[in-house]
Amino acid sequence: MSGFGLFAIYNQAAFLQYAASGWVWICAMSAAVVILTVFTFQLPPQGNGLSLDSSVYLACIFLFGPSFSLTVLLLSSLISFFLERNKVWWKQLNNFAVYSIMICTSSLTFAAFGGEEGPLLSYHLYAYTGSMAVYFILNTLLISLYYYVVFHENLYETLKGMLRDTLLAYLSTLVLSLVLTILVSHNEFVGLALFLCLSVLLSYSFKQLFAMYRSIEERANRDQRTGLFNHSYFETALEEAMRKSKADGSALSLAMIDIDDFKKYNDHFGHLKGDGLIVFLAELLKKESKGTEIIVSRYGGEEFTLLLPAHDTVQAKQFIERLRRMLNQSPFEGVEIFPQGCLSFSAGIAGYKPDVHEKSELVEHADQALYYAKKQGKNLVHIYGNQSPLEREIDFSQDVRDIEQQLNLFMYKDLETFKHSKRVFQYALDISRLLNLDNLTKRQFTLGALIHDIGKLEIPWGILNKKDKLTPEEWEMVKWHVTWGKKMAMTNEKFKDLAPYIELHHERYDGQGYPYGFKGEEIPRLCRMLTIIDSFDAMTTERAYQPTKSIAEAIVELRACAGSQFDPQLTEFFINYIESRAFPSEDITTQRSLQDTPLTH
Ligand code: GH3
Ligand code: MG
Ligand code: MG
Repeated sequence: MSGFGLFAIYNQAAFLQYAASGWVWICAMSAAVVILTVFTFQLPPQGNGLSLDSSVYLACIFLFGPSFSLTVLLLSSLISFFLERNKVWWKQLNNFAVYSIMICTSSLTFAAFGGEEGPLLSYHLYAYTGSMAVYFILNTLLISLYYYVVFHENLYETLKGMLRDTLLAYLSTLVLSLVLTILVSHNEFVGLALFLCLSVLLSYSFKQLFAMYRSIEERANRDQRTGLFNHSYFETALEEAMRKSKADGSALSLAMIDIDDFKKYNDHFGHLKGDGLIVFLAELLKKESKGTEIIVSRYGGEEFTLLLPAHDTVQAKQFIERLRRMLNQSPFEGVEIFPQGCLSFSAGIAGYKPDVHEKSELVEHADQALYYAKKQGKNLVHIYGNQSPLEREIDFSQDVRDIEQQLNLFMYKDLETFKHSKRVFQYALDISRLLNLDNLTKRQFTLGALIHDIGKLEIPWGILNKKDKLTPEEWEMVKWHVTWGKKMAMTNEKFKDLAPYIELHHERYDGQGYPYGFKGEEIPRLCRMLTIIDSFDAMTTERAYQPTKSIAEAIVELRACAGSQFDPQLTEFFINYIESRAFPSEDITTQRSLQDTPLTH
């Protein structure tokens, strides 16, 4: 409305009063605007077209004043309206209003700075600059506002994106308005024609450059042999998909596929034929995911990933199972050499959950599920976390021994941490029993408890065993143990899934912890439980930097910190457990009431 109001005030039906020569210029300038809106400059990365029409409006303001410029706007908008009849009418009106506001306010600024209509006067440079600055700022703000209102996009992000992608190109349109002012005042129509010629030619060059940019971008994201996306594109797409899924709570699954016994095929028929098999599977994946949101990439060698937005793990499994059966039934040269007697792959599926913070974690889960499918005899699709509990139980005691072996280093370096880790492990075992955790979760939680301080092996002996208060620098170093510990766990295939317990056991419920400052539900529930166990044990045993508390005092302290440092619900659960240990006759029904609540999510 303000756009139309400003138009009415500043134009005052001036178009009725122009002489014939005035109309010739209005028609010429309006035609220039229309030509420039057709021949835009395509800019990467999205290919949005930047039009130089603003140069003409600004030049009109400098040369002929606001009412002339508004008449040019009116005429060019009418022409565009007829040329682009398929465009939504309210968008055209909105465009008209936005331009009216920009033309009126920058004319006002030009006049306020003492600018005079006519040929460019160098001593009025600040009037030109001020007017162009106002035009630019208003344009950016109004367009961002438009995207905010119409598409509900984030205002700050839109502004940032616009400035990043178009600032330099936009500044050149401002400068070109001065060039056009000079050209028109010196050479009139010839000047205008020169300007248009140059703009149209440059528009063509930009189109060619953009097409080249697109093809290079396409090549950089594609795997040459299969035409699927490549590993590096997959990483970017996964990050983006996880961000989206976290923001809107939509489902997301990742599937990792590996051709079974491919080496055999290669050895038997040679690499060239082997390549043919890779391309064959790639084509199948491409065909079946066409028209869906699924992103298929060649992860490397004969391994592929499928990113399945809006699919939970069960839906993802259905899709991949269908592909697996199709591949089994596909005739292909030499399939008789495969143990299964047909082409086959194994696949692992991992579902995204908000407490998966890094993309490598999701890939790792899918990879582990794939490894499991291979171990079960191949030609299988397996969902991460669905392992048979019995099998996990078998690995368990060996895993404890493996971790204990690493912890033995603490016997010499910091005996307290060694004993502390063992006690925390025992607490975790008790808690997992009380919570009726399934075997896989129990394994992760208790091993995570046992290994949680492993990163302290990296802290110098003098700091670990210091009797006096630690300096701030020394504290900073101690804090690094969560990150070092995570890195140590990640080097061992078997202990990768324990990394969150190591890395997040110093996060706080109120978000004041480290290393990330995650808050409340952002921290996996069992990590929150580990924090409580860890702190309780630290309070009740002697440590270099804390006096010992009695159990009763520690309970008071836990309650005092519930809601800030600790999850309040889990704190009460843990206190019940401690009290029932200290006073075994007490009723523990409250603990049972929580048994059915899943502690992981
Ligand atoms: P598994 O069922 O356990 O997956 O057995 P596999 O024989 O498929 O074993 P693995 O996945 O470890 O081996 C993959 C082989 O694929 C190793 C490598 O020689 C071969 N390979 C990797 N990339 C290519 C490629 O682009 N072309 C060809 N022809 N062979 C490849
Ligand atoms: Mg492989
Ligand atoms: Mg293979």
